[in-house]
Amino acid sequence: EAKTFKSHIDALIIGAGPSGLMAAYWMARCGIKARIIDKRGTKVFTGQADGLRSRTLELFDSMGIQHRILHEGHIAVEVNFWVPGKNGTLIRQGTHTPAKVNESPYHSTLLNQGRIERFILDSIRQHSKLEVERGIIAESLEYDENLEDDPTAYPITVQLRTLDGDEVKLTGSPGNGDGSTTVHNGLDRSNLLVDDWDDLIQRSRSHQAKVEIVKAKYLIGCDGAHSWTRKQLNIPLEGSSTDHIWGVMDIIPITDFPDIRRISTVTNVSGTMLVIPRERHLVRLYVPVHVVDTATGGQFDRSTITLDMIRKRVQNILSPYSFEFRICDWWTAYRVAQRIAPTFSKGSRIFLAGDAVHTHSPKVGLGMNISMQDGFNIGWKIGLVAAGTAHPSILETYNPERHRLAEMLLEFDRHWSKSFTDDKLHAVGTSEKTKSMIQVVEMFEDFADGLKVFYGASLLVWKNDGEDGPAVARRLIPGERFPPAKLRNQAEGRTEWTTRLLESDGRFHVVLLAGDVRVEAQRRRIERLSCFLAGQDSCLTRYASIPGRFHSPILLVTIHSAPWREAEFFQFPDVLRPLDPVMGWDYSRIWCDDVCIWDRECDGQTYAKWAADRTRGAVVVVRPDQYIGWVGELEDADALTRYFDGVLLKK
Ligand code: FAD
Repeated sequence: EAKTFKSHIDALIIGAGPSGLMAAYWMARCGIKARIIDKRGTKVFTGQADGLRSRTLELFDSMGIQHRILHEGHIAVEVNFWVPGKNGTLIRQGTHTPAKVNESPYHSTLLNQGRIERFILDSIRQHSKLEVERGIIAESLEYDENLEDDPTAYPITVQLRTLDGDEVKLTGSPGNGDGSTTVHNGLDRSNLLVDDWDDLIQRSRSHQAKVEIVKAKYLIGCDGAHSWTRKQLNIPLEGSSTDHIWGVMDIIPITDFPDIRRISTVTNVSGTMLVIPRERHLVRLYVPVHVVDTATGGQFDRSTITLDMIRKRVQNILSPYSFEFRICDWWTAYRVAQRIAPTFSKGSRIFLAGDAVHTHSPKVGLGMNISMQDGFNIGWKIGLVAAGTAHPSILETYNPERHRLAEMLLEFDRHWSKSFTDDKLHAVGTSEKTKSMIQVVEMFEDFADGLKVFYGASLLVWKNDGEDGPAVARRLIPGERFPPAKLRNQAEGRTEWTTRLLESDGRFHVVLLAGDVRVEAQRRRIERLSCFLAGQDSCLTRYASIPGRFHSPILLVTIHSAPWREAEFFQFPDVLRPLDPVMGWDYSRIWCDDVCIWDRECDGQTYAKWAADRTRGAVVVVRPDQYIGWVGELEDADALTRYFDGVLLKK
């Protein structure tokens, strides 16, 4: 008989892929009692996703891991389009460079998912004792909706089962698909197979396994495209599969194709392939390998796809250039499918993130980015609610904020995938095809790079009339990301990006754009606001702490616009540069928008970029995930407090 253990926790995360790990990061930062389980015995080491977009990299900076990505990843921003030329040649017909390439400090970077997971895991470890528990599968889920409104209740009951060694191995099988077993393939993780969790649960029941009943306040299902959690909740994935099967391989190429180290699409009569340069001389190639015959019911035998078949397809499309490889790191095949769940939550306690609620073709290189951003969005909200710091009602914002983005993701994928396979596009001529591909990239650029997220009005986002920010700072738009800028520290003179400065540690940031502190009238405005903030029941002191982490869930940061040499740290009111009896003054609180002669990125143009009044400044609330929640004048302290009263719990 299996032994049954019981435990009570704040949050359970099922699945330790990119979305689950990002959610777990917040559990670690907010110090709540959480667990994260995964049925696989190990993390990903090779293959899977490899493309990171600007916004994800900005979030990594706020988590303190971006320097590791920069160190190992391969930056590739421009896309080249190759089409047939005269006499059987291939020519580079166009190159696309993103229009807003300098709107972020970070650019599209290619790196294996395994490394990315490693960095997030290290960060989680740095801040807590939370570890991924591997070789564990969830086998039953009960949810008592009657308990939802009681913050002390545990309405979720999940039964977990520890898999034995053999079963864990079953969840990942290396092999070439051609009999040899030297190269890891990802067919077991691809959507050409049904998932193995049902099988695993059945098998593990036949032996003495550790069984555990976990009572949880919150549950996040991050268990991928075949999501067990979603199925238990009877939430469907709506959409369709296409007829196209694609092969993918990570190889070290030996070729005379000139753009093999640049992102490129190559079209010729036998199809269109995609080239993605990577770290360590690797290159990823996506190539169409098969069209399923829907007349025979769309059945497809995945064993017919081999590494050699993918190699031959690439040789075919790249011809007349030569193509060979000796080293293959990983390969797989998948069927293009676009699907989305109608809702990403159940009641107010269970949430789904990542591939569990949206799947599409990997070629847009966004699934992992959007999945991680889902985990990042729900993670801090659950972290702060479970810590007793924020109102549970903030959780209602997850669904509307992330569902819309997932819809856009599928829309982008539909257009992008179509431009690879549409026969009509081939027929109208290759320059038309290049044009149409560039059009698709341009249409979705802001969304894909995460420069816009379109979060609507809610208790976390106080919108102004119209699309822009308020008159005091037109380009600081509530519901959008806080546009990164490089600033100079007043006390130390060093420079830093706001993405790093506003660290993702669980706190909201109130950013005081103090304006020109040389102007007497402006200094009086700052004094008045500072008096208010230093008052007994101000928004800096009235809210519940993040237990074991921070006395206040709000951190105040000041950015002034006077020349660096014409201002002094000690001229700012005490509340803006607090004194710790042991650590002394907090020099990291006062920053300046001025040029720095030794750092060209610190250009003194931040106020201009944000369209903020250089003399009068503004006040901005930046949410823990670095999206703007509220913008107002220095006189709007009451509205600022009202914003926080709706979000945070009083002491
Ligand atoms: P997954 O990564 O699928 O993680 C789910 C986890 O849950 C797994 O570890 C699994 O073992 C675990 N699990 C499942 N069921 C259970 C259960 N019942 N109990 C316990 N654990 C369970 N995205 C990009 O952004 N950029 C790219 O360049 C890119 N390229 C890609 C290339 C390929 C070939 C593929 C296949 C995908 C690519 N993607 C890319 C997509 C990306 O891999 C996924 O979108 C991303 O991994 C989704 O993350 P996730 O955490 O939601 O799910």
